Amino acid sequence: MAHLTDQEIAAQADIKPIEGIAEKAGIPHDALEMYGKYKAKVDIHKIEGNEKQSKVVLVSAMNPTPAGEGKSTCTVGLADAFNQLEKNVMVALREPSLGPVMGIKGGATGGGRAQVLPMEEINLHFNGDLHAITTANNALSAFIDNHIHHGNELNIDPRRITWKRVLDMNDRALRQVVVGLGGPTRGVPREDGFDITVASEIMAVLCLASDIIDLKKKLADIVIGYTYDREPVTVGQLEVQGALALLLKEAIKPNLVQTMEGTPALIHGGPFANIAHGCNSLIATNTARKLADIVVTECGFGSDLGGEKFMNIKARKGEFAPDAIVLVATIRALKMNGGVAKKDLGEANVDALKEGIANLEKHIENARKFGIEPVVALNDFVTDTDEERDFVLNWCKDQNVRVSLTKVWEKGGEGGKDLAEKVLEVLDEPQNFKHLYENELPIDQKIEKIVTEVYGGDGVIFTDKAKKQLAEIDRHGWGDFPVCMAKSQYSLSDDPTLLGRPTGFKVTVREVVAKAGAGFVVALTGDIMTMPGLPKVPSAVHMDVDADGNSKGLF
Ligand code: ADP
Repeated sequence: MAHLTDQEIAAQADIKPIEGIAEKAGIPHDALEMYGKYKAKVDIHKIEGNEKQSKVVLVSAMNPTPAGEGKSTCTVGLADAFNQLEKNVMVALREPSLGPVMGIKGGATGGGRAQVLPMEEINLHFNGDLHAITTANNALSAFIDNHIHHGNELNIDPRRITWKRVLDMNDRALRQVVVGLGGPTRGVPREDGFDITVASEIMAVLCLASDIIDLKKKLADIVIGYTYDREPVTVGQLEVQGALALLLKEAIKPNLVQTMEGTPALIHGGPFANIAHGCNSLIATNTARKLADIVVTECGFGSDLGGEKFMNIKARKGEFAPDAIVLVATIRALKMNGGVAKKDLGEANVDALKEGIANLEKHIENARKFGIEPVVALNDFVTDTDEERDFVLNWCKDQNVRVSLTKVWEKGGEGGKDLAEKVLEVLDEPQNFKHLYENELPIDQKIEKIVTEVYGGDGVIFTDKAKKQLAEIDRHGWGDFPVCMAKSQYSLSDDPTLLGRPTGFKVTVREVVAKAGAGFVVALTGDIMTMPGLPKVPSAVHMDVDADGNSKGLF
């Protein structure tokens, strides 16, 4: 099997009509809106159940290599293992963005024998949610430019518009653009720029809304820029929140699909975890909680990024807590954190593991900081050696942390049963979840707390620009928002080259931007970009489609 690609394995799977999957999940037939044979949107108003009785298992990870450590794979495989143990389980995952699909990172549908189906459609356009978000975002840009063109009644300063256009692609050439060129009939010239769609505040808002009315309210609160008097201008003042919500009325419905073993999965919303909050929609998680006894869900990158934001942003807004945390680790990421170059990660190296394990140690401590006992999933690669595996398994036992050698990539749910049993042990124990900070704490102190407690740093340096922005945020009454850190995923610090468990560092916050619609403040560190670029040889060059519409080379 090892030589088959994810796409080839998925193509061999026995995919079932979505009606049967819905029935298994307890979704009534009239709540289904069919998107072909294997995908459906779900009308959440027709779903009954008490979400408070469900247990949420959060799958997070150590700091990853650029290829990803198998979080989606383990999320899907763990759910399939619960399914094999005859538990009533559902998966909640993020939707892939075409930027990483065409670029380097790949899709978001898992891998090997632990995938969601139909993987090709999910990775390419899916049910159109990202396109709807792109359209709503860019409609707002058009409304702003049109408002200025027709006399600018709201006194918007074109130099202080913070709302950018978006595209669901890595396109560095669009990071900074000038719009409105060509004379008075073509609008008012101003500097603009493009972000990737998954960094749009509309994506964040959609993922944090409880329903379409709440979505509309959050859209109205979005700040698009400032007047000449430096006062914020909102979507509500432009009176277009209704139109934007209308453009999103299908996108807000969660998408039902299935795993390769027929476990029901909701895939909905997909903000990046390094520049946004990194979790699937609250609507999908809550719908799954109503339907299933156990919900397995994922947050992006390591527990320092997606994990921290899941706890402090998503779980807080959703008023729930995770009941268990799985930390995915791989021998290759441990070796990379122990200083091994990317090209040498295939070679056995227990000495590097001994160094790199400090990274995992910090992520274990972080889970415990949130009051949840973690389970380490050592995602097994056929290239790992027994000596390396034993080292990690023994180290975990010495640390008194549950660990499971997880073979879901190779064997599907069967390879995750041991992990599932260990997670069940945690679910049976009382956990003591707590947020890292209270919302009332000033923004700079919240950032300080994340940096010192979650990243293990000594403190924070705020640039002069960030200091001025902090003062403005306070003045506008946004000081109670939680913080959404934008940071490198490769290091616990803001410097991607500081691997392992760095100490003695400070994190520099260069900008602090309030997202009043999403209800959080983004703190930008390092050179993290809201519009990524493509690599020299993007994955796109390996892709093709034949005369019958069969694709190849996805992953
Ligand atoms: P993440 O969610 O952490 O980004 P994914 O689950 O998307 O990671 O996996 C990234 C890639 O690694 C996928 O192509 C997947 O097939 C591959 N992968 C994951 N686990 C394994 C494994 N145990 N052996 C081989 N390849 C794996």
